[in-house]
Amino acid sequence: MLTLDFHPTGRHFLQIPGPSPVPDRILRAMSLPTIDHRGPEFGALGLRVLKGIQQIFQTKHPVVIYPASGTGAWEAALANTLSPGDLVLMYETGHFAALWQKLASRLGVKTEFLGLPGVEGWRKGVQAHLIEERLKADKEHAIKAVCVVHNETSTGATSNILAVRKAIDAAKHPALLMVDSISGLASAEYKHDEWGVDVTVSGSQKGLMLPPGISFNALAPKALEASKSAKLPKAFWAWDEIVEMNKSGYWPYTPNTNLLYGLAEACDMLLEPAFGGLEGTFARHRRWGEGVRAGVRAWGLEIQCNEAASYSPVLTGVITPEGVDADAVRKLIYERFDLSLGTGLGKVKGRMFRIGHLGDCNDLTLMAALSGCEMGLKLAGVKLAGSGVQAAMDYFAGHPAPVALQKAA
Ligand SMILES: *Cc1c(COP(=O)(O)O)cnc(C)c1O
Repeated sequence: MLTLDFHPTGRHFLQIPGPSPVPDRILRAMSLPTIDHRGPEFGALGLRVLKGIQQIFQTKHPVVIYPASGTGAWEAALANTLSPGDLVLMYETGHFAALWQKLASRLGVKTEFLGLPGVEGWRKGVQAHLIEERLKADKEHAIKAVCVVHNETSTGATSNILAVRKAIDAAKHPALLMVDSISGLASAEYKHDEWGVDVTVSGSQKGLMLPPGISFNALAPKALEASKSAKLPKAFWAWDEIVEMNKSGYWPYTPNTNLLYGLAEACDMLLEPAFGGLEGTFARHRRWGEGVRAGVRAWGLEIQCNEAASYSPVLTGVITPEGVDADAVRKLIYERFDLSLGTGLGKVKGRMFRIGHLGDCNDLTLMAALSGCEMGLKLAGVKLAGSGVQAAMDYFAGHPAPVALQKAA
């Protein structure tokens, strides 16, 4: 039982794909005293984080910051742009796509859930051609929005968002494009403006290296326009008042001051030119993903994502052999080695576990995670083809990082 008195020796290895470990530099920034959210210093902080987060989303348009988890920002994206009964085309990449679809239905829009049959769609990114075909068939433009998940955290597959944009354009369809990049942002490449996304939803506790508690809607002019006539009830989530007050760095309600200190620090870390800026960040996570997958392959285990172009730089899903309960392996690893791994969710519960390589990591934190996995798999009686730890060491040693490894200075 975890209590505040629970202090195991050394460092806990939080290798789930979010929340990700919060670096000391961010914890220190968040420990500053809470200030008056209507006072003069606050406006400067507000403007600083709003500018920083725009750079992370790669957008010139407003980004709304909510004191809520990612789920709140999912609701905000839909509530601001849609009317009761509107038809929304959503794509099933995995458990998070399914949860967003459930939320949309509860909110009072009609959803159509497109995807490959069975578990096959949970092993790949979005198949953009299916979206194009469906939109071409929608001659009356009944579909008001297309919703996809950028990085499907339940499986470890990253979708090509530009391909989805092109599919919508090829069908000459006016639907809004809404993207969940809750776990992708700040670890996997993401370009809100260049990819023509109308609303991007994200959260604090994944690639941004912050604790849970704030989430985002990155907007585009077309989404702001849609929000003026959208009829779903919205009050707390309504963009208009927030965007207006944000112009001077303030919010209509009490914002999450200490998390905003952390966000300011996170933006500095992620954008730091000495470490390659955002491109450097993406390159580091691609390389860590390669190293972890080299390890999984050496064990002789299957990777949940079976489409190489969609391998996630954020996490890797590992399928356990038939008859081996992945959750029992996770439990053993947690109890013996104080290492937390992600559980299989929804359709793949018990069949796989997830190793996070998002947020604040380095070669050795990942080597520790792989060592814990390898010891645990062996203790659970899984026959491994070889040493994943050795293979990952060979990969990391043989492939020096293209830019400096450490984000924190
Ligand atoms: C974590 C996550 C969510 C849910 O966010 P919460 O902060 O738990 O509400 C939604 N979508 C994706 C892809 C996620 O990774």
